[in-house]
Order: sequence, then C-alpha cells, then structure tokens
Amino acid sequence: MKTTLLGHPRIGRQRELKKACEAFWSGKINQTELLNTAKEIKKQNWLQQQDLGVDLIPSNDFSFYDQVLDACLTFGCIPKRYNNIDKSNYLELYFAMARGLQKDNIDVTAMEMTKWFDTNYHYIVPEFEKEQTFHFFSNKIIEEYKEALTLGIKTKPVLIGPVTFLLQGKEKESGFHRLDLLDKLLPVYFEVIERLENLGAEYIQFDEPCLALNLSEKEQQAITKTYNKIAKKFPALKVFLANYFDCYGENLNIALQLPVDTLHLDLVRCPLQLNDILESEHFNPKTKLSLGVVDGRNIWKNDFETSIKIIEKASKKLDPENLWIASSCSLLHTPYDLDLETTLEPEIKQWLAFTKQKIEEIVALKHLLKADNDGYLHLFEENKLANLTKKSSKLIHNDSVKTRISNLKSSDSHRESTFSTRQVLQKQALHLPLFPTTTIGSFPQTKEVRSWRLKFKKGILSQQEYNTLIAKEIEDSIRFQEEIGLDVLVHGEFERNDMVEYFGEKLNGFAFSSYGWVQSYGSRCVKPPILFGDVSRENPMTVKWSEYAQSLTDIPVKGMLTGPVTILQWSFVRNDQPRDVTCNQIALAIRDEVTDLEKAGLKIIQIDEPAIREGLPLREEEWKNYLNWAVKAFRISASGVQNQTQIHTHMCYSEFNDIIASISDMDADVITIETSRSEMELLDVFVDFKYPNEIGPGVYDIHSPRVPSLEEIENLLTKAKNVLPKEHIWVNPDCGLKTRDWPETKDALKNLVTAAKNLRSQT
Ligand code: GLN
Ligand code: ZN
Repeated sequence: MKTTLLGHPRIGRQRELKKACEAFWSGKINQTELLNTAKEIKKQNWLQQQDLGVDLIPSNDFSFYDQVLDACLTFGCIPKRYNNIDKSNYLELYFAMARGLQKDNIDVTAMEMTKWFDTNYHYIVPEFEKEQTFHFFSNKIIEEYKEALTLGIKTKPVLIGPVTFLLQGKEKESGFHRLDLLDKLLPVYFEVIERLENLGAEYIQFDEPCLALNLSEKEQQAITKTYNKIAKKFPALKVFLANYFDCYGENLNIALQLPVDTLHLDLVRCPLQLNDILESEHFNPKTKLSLGVVDGRNIWKNDFETSIKIIEKASKKLDPENLWIASSCSLLHTPYDLDLETTLEPEIKQWLAFTKQKIEEIVALKHLLKADNDGYLHLFEENKLANLTKKSSKLIHNDSVKTRISNLKSSDSHRESTFSTRQVLQKQALHLPLFPTTTIGSFPQTKEVRSWRLKFKKGILSQQEYNTLIAKEIEDSIRFQEEIGLDVLVHGEFERNDMVEYFGEKLNGFAFSSYGWVQSYGSRCVKPPILFGDVSRENPMTVKWSEYAQSLTDIPVKGMLTGPVTILQWSFVRNDQPRDVTCNQIALAIRDEVTDLEKAGLKIIQIDEPAIREGLPLREEEWKNYLNWAVKAFRISASGVQNQTQIHTHMCYSEFNDIIASISDMDADVITIETSRSEMELLDVFVDFKYPNEIGPGVYDIHSPRVPSLEEIENLLTKAKNVLPKEHIWVNPDCGLKTRDWPETKDALKNLVTAAKNLRSQT
C-alpha cells in the first residue's frame, strides 16, 4: 500500500503567500521577491511531505491565486480583453485576469469568481467564446515538476480535468455549448502530458469533481471520450482520476469502465460507495483504488479504527499493491499545522488534525496496516484514546441541550398565526408608512472602530472604555438615521468583528484557533470557528446593545442576529452527529436570543441567513432533505415570538430559482435580498412564485463606493412597484454597509429615503 495527497495548502504556514502577494500588488516588493517566497513555500511543502513519508507527492497544487486560473493560462484560454497586456509579463497578465488592471492606457475588469463546488473556496470562472481556441501557453505545470525534481522528488502533477474545466466555465456568447470545445481543448492536454512524460513523469492526477454532480448523458460521454483518448495516446501514463466532495453516484459505471490507472474515492463524504465498487460487475481488479479516508474538508482527527476497517475491506478484494491511502480531497481546505496553536484548550486540541497532522495520519495508517506494525501501535492507541474521550467529554456533551432537542415539538417551528393575521397586527403595532425604509444592519466598520476592538483585545482599552466608545458610535448612528428619516433603524453592529465569529465567541460549543487559516480566494483567508460541542447560550448575546439603541429613540430599532444555517455553514462543524442536529442546537440558542430581544422591547428582529443557498448539496436528490432541515432550523429560531413581533431575514446572493419554495416556507415576515445589480430581474423569481410575505429588494449595490442617484433608485423602485403588491414592498440597500465609508453611505441613504418618499406621494 502507498500513500498520496490530492493537494497541499499553499498559503504558507504563516500566510507568507498572502503577505507577499499583497506586498507585490502594492509595489512594496518586486517580482523576484514574490517568486522567491513562492519557491520557498513549495519547497517547504514538498520536503515536509517527504520527511513525513508520503510516497507520491503532488505538484502544480501551488498557485499564486487559483488553480483554475492557472489552468486557463496553461491552455491559453485568455479572454480578448486582456490582449493589450504584454504577454511576456506573465504575472501582470495573471493578476490582471484575477483582479483587473488599471495602468497607463489599460483598464480591464477581472474575471468572474464563484464558489468551488460546495466549498467556501472561490475559483476564477473560465470564459469561452464560440470560436474559442486553445494553445499551450503557460508552462507552470512543467516548471513546477522540474522544481521538485531538483529536490530529488518525482511528483504527481495535478491538473484540473478537461471536462470539469469546461463545465465549471461559462459561455460568453450564445450559439454553442462549452462541451463542444472538448475536441479543441484535448490536443493541448496531450501536449502537456507529452512534456511531462518526457521529463519522466509517471503519474498525472486529473481532478474531475464534476463526477460528483448529476451529469447528463452528453457530459458522461465527454468523460469516457477524454480518458479513452488519453489512454490510447499515452499507454504508459498512469492516470490518477480524482473525484471528490461526493459519491460517483450514477456516474459510477462510467467511471469504473475508464482505462485509468487509479480511481480516487472520497470515502469521507461517501463511505458506502466502496461496497458498490467492490461488488460491481464493471470493476476491473487491475484498476487501483485511492481510498480518501482522511478528511480534507474538516479538522477532526481521523478515526483509525474505522479507516482501517475500510481499507481492510478493500484489501480483501484487491492486491494491497493496488491501493493508495489518501486525503479525501485536496488539503487546501484545511489549515496548515496544529502545532502552531498554543492557546487552544488541550482537551479540544487532542481531537484535531490540521494538514501536517493529516499527512501523519495517512502515513500512520499505511504502517498500521502492515503485518509488522509494532513500531506504530502506540499511534493507534493514542488515536483510539483521543476519539474515546470525545464520546464522553463534558466539554462536548450537555444533557440539557440534548433533552431540549429531543423534546422539540412541531409547534416550536410554527408562529402562533399565519402571515396574514400577523401582518395586520404588525401594521397596528409598528405604524410604518407605505414603502418603509431600512438598512441591512451594519454601518461602516471604520479604521477607528476596528482599532478600538484591537486595543480592547490587547488590554490597552478597558471593557468600560471600549463600551463607552461603542455606545457613542451607536448613538451617533441612531441620530443620523433619525435625521435622514429612515423608518426602521439599526444599531450598526460596531461591536462585531464578524457575523459568525461574534456569536461563536459567546456560545458554548465553539473554539477558536489562532492560525487556522484557509484560503477563501486569492490572498483572502478565513479562520472558521471550530464547532466542537453541544451548542448552548449562557447569557444574552446582543440584547444589551440593541436595547440601548432602542432606548435612544421612539422609532423602531431592529434587533440583529445571524441565523443557525449561516453559523453552521461558516464553521468547521463536529462530525460526531448529523449536521441537522447541530443546526437545531444553534437554532434553539438563537431562539432564546430572539425572545429575549422581544422582552427587551425590540419589535422587529432580523435573522440573517446569507448562507442557506451555498449549503445545498451537490446532488439534487439530496436537496429536499437539506432544505427541509435548514428551513426548519430557521423557523425554530424565529417562532418563539408573538404575532405582532416582526421577523426579518436577509440573503445576499443571486440564485433563488432552486430554492424559492423553501425561502417562502421560512415564513419570515419580511425578507431583504440583493437585486440592484440585476436591475430587479432577480425579483422575477419571487413574483412568479407569488411570494406571499413582505419583501425588500435591494435598491443599491453596496460593493462599490459609488453613490446611486435618486433617479436610479426611483427607477428600480418603480419596477418593483409594478410587479409586487405595494403594501409588501420595503426599501433598503442590497446588503450591510460595513465595508463602506461614511460619506458615501450618508449620501446614498439620503437618496434612498427621498426616493421612497417620492414614491409614497405618487400613490
Ligand atoms: N447584518 C449583516 C450586515 O449588515 C448582514 C451581512 C450579510 O448579509 N453577509 O453586515
Ligand atoms: Zn447581505
């Protein structure tokens, strides 16, 4: 048995790549310095894997920005708008495609970015035109192979497979389908393979995670055609075909019949597929299997007992020589090294494994499976013990939370009355005008506000001093909102670092790492909270500031919370119980906060759920189950209040088509959504569905400092008024304003209020 990884993180142990890229962009370091940092990171990654004993080490898993963008450049798939950039200046072209470029007489926008399957990693979307051509352009993959060779390491270059590359891209004009480009694209793959083979490469990993999706027949045929052609042209090449993030599903028979050397299985997401494969009549015992048993998407220690059982099952049918022990997917999605963590509670730390520890696990599993494993048995015992302590740990298990979950009744996820009854009572309680105006919650997180939080954390500011500053900021924001005439006010979220971290820090069941960074996009990294145990709320989390804000004014202030699905989605979540159970625990904690806000006199409470859409499973057959529990969790959090208390929710993304029925089922009294960039087109989904409750289609884009004109806002509002019942319409921006500065925020909101007033006077 041998070991391999599908990919290694590349931001550097201390985010060296992030820092170097940002310094390069701002002109603080030159190209040579950036390239040296990259070289050093690659070297460290490779040597560490070698030291730890990985048999087949990946290359070309490094990237300055994104591996899909790298592939675009490998295949010369460069949109025409970059033609004016000097192609010999590779990094300038590369970063222009990633981030846009304004220089001399050049002014080009960046390529689009979107989430990579169901991860929080964002890739650059390849752009295709009808007459698209491809040619071998960037030789990064070749250079990286050589770079590792000079260290004495013969790597497995990783390349995104042609079908996934095409499918994850976008047609930029009509009249063709991007899969039609396959025949033009394959010759460039052949060229790359040939060059790598000439340098002695034995294995190449082709990433085809599109195999985890519901593929059409045409798409399945493209897979068959691609790998048959490669096999025919390169009989000596060992193709390592990697699907991950879910099962092969109905693509399994296609995959099993491919002439590839190795088929990789994500056995974390889909453990049962191993049985299907071993029993399939199509399975060719000469095909090697790569058993992805070590989780590349989460940070928990592997359970050796379970992994060994899985591997042994495979080795009964297959010659062990034909088995790889591997990570379930690239380790890109896990932080570098748990050893860096010095402040995590030791009991919790012993349950965790970051990249380095995961590599050690893969190697340990290999040794444990040998007949002569004496030298490794202590690792097995250690692993067993750590996993055992989890089962009974007081830190994790809280009986009263579990009892509360098992006592949940159907009425807990239903408001007392239906929306039509509530709407009447709320109108009486709130006295809002037609087209009420509001904002989404946050106001500018200025440098100053952030510096207070930092100084408070460092102990330079006392709790009292910090509170005084925050209180003053809230008061100023309330006065400003009153002055311009908004109808529903917010406190501004100045006390919050981040909409998930803030709640995680206050809830039981969460821990925080110091260096647990993972790449989100380009140089941007996130540090997800670690949701390790039963979630409960010890004390109110937001009541003090919301109550204070309301005490300053007679106009209604909206309480502001993050919803259970979003908290779940943006954390590393425990894997010892189903996600829906964990989500219900968070929901109950939020429910308590909602009812406490109500008791404190808040008549309107917003529960943000911007992450509901991204939680959708990859396979459509699983959507219904997910949407059922996600909607239910939201409803549990929202249903503890009286009829006249108004619940808002907010979502800021653009694809509502697939989930509009579920959004409607959430039964929030008001939903605010992002619509301005699409000129209200996104509203169509709500209109066609006859969305029953009130709705605030965003009237301006908060991503840019640009101030929308009165006329623009009026036009958008008129569009909304033409398709929605006027008593249902709210007026608000697309999203929170935390990334903006005050001057543009003030001007934009003044226009927003005036536009609403003008519209009122017309009716
Ligand atoms: N209430 C949050 C804010 O205004 C919502 C953020 C979000 O939708 N991502 O910042
Ligand atoms: Zn938003």
